[in-house]
Amino acid sequence: MSRTFPERAFAAASDLGEKPREECGVFGVVGHPEAAWITYQGLFALQHRGQESAGIVSSDGRSFYQHRGMGLVGTVFRGGNLEHLRGHLAVGHNRYSTAGSSTLQNAQPFVAQYARGPIAVAHNGNFVNAFQLRRKMESEGQIFVTTSDTEVFAHLIGASPARSLEDRIVDALREIRGAYSLLCMSPRLLVAVRDPSGFRPLWMGQLEGAILFASETCALDAVDATIEREVEPGEMVLVSLSEGGPQVHSFRLPLFERRAHCIFELLYLARADSVVFGESVALKRLAFGRQLAREAPAEADLVTGIPDSANMAALGYAQESGIPFQFALARNQYVGRTFIEPQQRMREKQVGMKLNPIRDVVAGRRIVLVDDSLMRGTTMRKLVKRIRNAGATEVHVRIAAPPTRYPCFYGVDFPTKTELIASDHTLEEIRRYIRADSLGYLSIQGMLTCVKEPATYCTACFSGRYPLEFEGQDIQQLSFDFSHNRDRN
Ligand code: SF4
Repeated sequence: MSRTFPERAFAAASDLGEKPREECGVFGVVGHPEAAWITYQGLFALQHRGQESAGIVSSDGRSFYQHRGMGLVGTVFRGGNLEHLRGHLAVGHNRYSTAGSSTLQNAQPFVAQYARGPIAVAHNGNFVNAFQLRRKMESEGQIFVTTSDTEVFAHLIGASPARSLEDRIVDALREIRGAYSLLCMSPRLLVAVRDPSGFRPLWMGQLEGAILFASETCALDAVDATIEREVEPGEMVLVSLSEGGPQVHSFRLPLFERRAHCIFELLYLARADSVVFGESVALKRLAFGRQLAREAPAEADLVTGIPDSANMAALGYAQESGIPFQFALARNQYVGRTFIEPQQRMREKQVGMKLNPIRDVVAGRRIVLVDDSLMRGTTMRKLVKRIRNAGATEVHVRIAAPPTRYPCFYGVDFPTKTELIASDHTLEEIRRYIRADSLGYLSIQGMLTCVKEPATYCTACFSGRYPLEFEGQDIQQLSFDFSHNRDRN
């Protein structure tokens, strides 16, 4: 299914190809007569986590009902698509492909049939050894119908000799490694699992006696659910449907890895009104901005952020530095980054379509321009030029994150390492490239002083220290997935 231009533009929302791409969002409901409708609302609130496809699978205790499509949640579910999704159980998924190509075939939840019936799997994350497992399975004669790493997991569930779904899931997880916040549904059971490192968030809530799961708290807020708690790293929560309502059981996975929450969730990926890893995203961004002001001060007349994701960090910078914060960039909400026009020329043209300096605010002023990350630098270069053209006398760029030098293999899609400007350029070279008067980044140490438990975070894209070993795979192998077109980045 192809998409119209405005949809593609909005889908690619905020960053003109300059930012890491959100991974995926999952949402699940057990024990509510409007399970599919609530899941739809939850997915709507998680739209920022994936804009390529969306899907919901529901169950009435006997059969599955499903609908998936390419595009935004509001486009996929229209024209009565929700009405046939019957039952008290549902799982939903928003996808941005970090493994596997962007096709309807790869849209999730993934549904498969195993010896004991159907299962639906919604996955946020990335299995780092899926490629090797798949090659082995294919050499043994197994057939795959998608290019997604989630299908490898479904095959492992099917191959397990265990009787119960939960034991089969544990068997599958013994084989697979990586980042996962997973929802697996059978006709009367929903299993929520989070990897032992806790890379991706996963929350649990309640609504009118039903049990809900969501990637972020903003989705539980959106449906007026009570937020219960985070699913713990290495925890499996089973919720079964019974006469008396949903029954909840929690188990520890027999798997151990060091904690490695993705710090990029706090820096950029999660919605500002969410809580992830026990931290308020908005308040962390404020703290990152304050720390940035301490580490990289500037002489200026005003501080502004690149809307919307950098606004909190800019506010923090302003509070700490005493330089007034002002909105200096107008944003066109309907134009964004695009993943179908990979040429740099097109991306650069889009900067002007999306962000425009407010002349009367910037003219004759020295500006501190705060962003939450810098990947290629091409968009920032264009933006700095536009701000100067609008009359700013100086532009001091401040990045509320450390220099991004390495790719992510745990479920976030970055530009390739060679495209990351900080991977092989000095601070001064980057400053000259973006034509800023000065450039400053947040240090890794400074960033970690802002979170409650620094040792529990992954910072591999800044430090190169990957918390999960790749077991014989090198970085080149990992950056190859089954048919994903890297040109889009
Ligand atoms: S490498 Fe970066 S983006 Fe990937 S999980 Fe670690 S902190 Fe997050």
